[in-house]
Amino acid sequence: MRRKLAAGNWKMNGTAASLGEIDALKQAFPAPGCEILICPPATLIHRMSERATGSAVMVGGQDCHWQETGAHTGDISAGMLKDAGASHVILGHSERRADHHETDAIVRAKAEAARARGLVAIICCGESLETREGGETLAHVGRQIAGSLPDGCTGTNTVVAYEPIWAIGTGKVPTLAEIGEVHDFIRAELVARFGPGAGNDIRLLYGGSVKPVNAAEIFGVANVDGALVGGASLKAGDFGGIVAALENA
Ligand code: PEP
Repeated sequence: MRRKLAAGNWKMNGTAASLGEIDALKQAFPAPGCEILICPPATLIHRMSERATGSAVMVGGQDCHWQETGAHTGDISAGMLKDAGASHVILGHSERRADHHETDAIVRAKAEAARARGLVAIICCGESLETREGGETLAHVGRQIAGSLPDGCTGTNTVVAYEPIWAIGTGKVPTLAEIGEVHDFIRAELVARFGPGAGNDIRLLYGGSVKPVNAAEIFGVANVDGALVGGASLKAGDFGGIVAALENA
């Protein structure tokens, strides 16, 4: 049985004034029926993890370097995230693949670094609109997960997030059949590569314009084990609606 996960990606949003959202989540979900994770900007990880202590809310990073230390100005390592209180790290988000030219090989190296430091890697994949319209979605996603996931992935060290680029921050969402098709495909790929045990244990999140209003129907799709949420994770009220939908799924 895969435990459901509601993960929030705050991207480059949030200052100390936003930490009250964690208090609101803690209060609303003292014993949630799913896992709750917030990935704030790196500047807030330590304060947020201290604030979340003793609650079910977990804190994660949005990226890490593949090396542990060294001359990489502006970067942050998996060990540093762990030291700051993170339990998870998002890797290979489409915004990083686009803005920072991250390849599948780079994402894979980062996932290995995350695992070495005991962080759960949330590895993102997803197609552009052009790729979808060209009928290449499954081939593209298949290549991304083959190249970005290291060997030895299990349900405890890895989560996969399917995020169609054209659905991120746009209010556009694939049909439930389209989401189901890709999630079933990813599940089959994971089982083929990692075996039925690990392949069936790795959780698959859907991401792309998930809101309280559409969450329940998305969570009803087979092989959707939760969501990676951007905009609607910034306010505890909105994110709480998504968490509640997941608890009831
Ligand atoms: C994301 O960027 O991970 C995301 C899913 O964003 P949004 O929910 O805002 O579409």
